Amino acid sequence: MEKLRIPGPTPCPPEVLQAMAWQMINHRGKEFTEMLSGVTDKLKQLFQTENDVLLLTASGTGGLEAAIVNTLSPGDKVLSVSIGVFGERLATIAQRFGAEVIPLRFEWGKAAEVEAIRQALQTEAKIKAVLVTHNETSTGVTNDLASISSVVKEFDKLLLVDAISSLGSINLPIDEWHCDVAVTGSQKGWMAPPGLAMVSVSEEAWRAHANAKMPRFYWDFTQAKNYLEKGQTPWTPAISTVFALSVALEMMLKEGLPNIIARHARAGGAAREGVKSLGLSLFAEETYASNTVTAVSSSDGLDIKKLLRILREEHRIVLGGGQQKLDGKIFRIGHLGWVTEEDIKTVISALKVALPQAGFVTMG
Ligand SMILES: *Cc1c(COP(=O)(O)O)cnc(C)c1O
Repeated sequence: MEKLRIPGPTPCPPEVLQAMAWQMINHRGKEFTEMLSGVTDKLKQLFQTENDVLLLTASGTGGLEAAIVNTLSPGDKVLSVSIGVFGERLATIAQRFGAEVIPLRFEWGKAAEVEAIRQALQTEAKIKAVLVTHNETSTGVTNDLASISSVVKEFDKLLLVDAISSLGSINLPIDEWHCDVAVTGSQKGWMAPPGLAMVSVSEEAWRAHANAKMPRFYWDFTQAKNYLEKGQTPWTPAISTVFALSVALEMMLKEGLPNIIARHARAGGAAREGVKSLGLSLFAEETYASNTVTAVSSSDGLDIKKLLRILREEHRIVLGGGQQKLDGKIFRIGHLGWVTEEDIKTVISALKVALPQAGFVTMG
């Protein structure tokens, strides 16, 4: 079997996969209600929140669209803090629905600078919300969300967070960091298959929602909340993914959030140390390097496409390439969800063999 080491979808434990084979149940029946209430309760614990957590049948991007259309109106000014592909995506969604996006871009591979965010908020008083990616999967950078959040809240703005590849893997206390809407997806750190977006909604986000005029139907948070109160979802949910997620969440709570976070830190550390020991460099500024995905810069002579092919064909290891302008310039090791430090050491050993075959010449 292939070892999937991309930043989502991620491998699922056997118990989780078995749940995917369970027979369908009535999504308006008692059994589903019990399951949804258990899943919601566990998600709240792992999100470290008292906020509402809604389960949407969607990939992560659907959750991002939901965050935008439920809290904003056309013409609203939003500050887009962007450090890579996913920051740009969130800004594009806002723009597509008529928000006036004020872009604040940082060099790819770097984290967002908090002082620049403060300056932008000082300069433009009418900003309604700040859009930010907690963990930028395309560059392997984790933003300092605690500091960003404290500036955003100093100015009393709504904070909408793409936490798709961080929640459940990297510490993100939703309430302590005042995230108004935070979005994640079942196929990232949650050890479950794709199909569900999980979204937390704060009191302040609900207040914004009451006046938000962007068009929405499938994503309407009011519908989601009304149905959740009855133990249902408004539309037919991805029932099999809910089964799988419920098993995965049970495993996660058994392991304990601090242990999960520490395990990801060890896996991230093993990836960074391993990559450097091979003579390669990290694409991300190291202080902000992510514990769920490591982006590795190319190097003279190295053919990344060839490297990924050799790893896949000869070592059965699947790594990610670079996205958009980073295509051919970096490769990425995913280490989130069902992953250990040992799994990453295996990747590093395979890289050691494959790198020279793909044209990489070590110095010295
Ligand atoms: C994976 C990812 C997305 C996109 O999620 P999909 O489930 O593919 O829609 C968005 N943002 C970040 C940070 C991601 O890692």
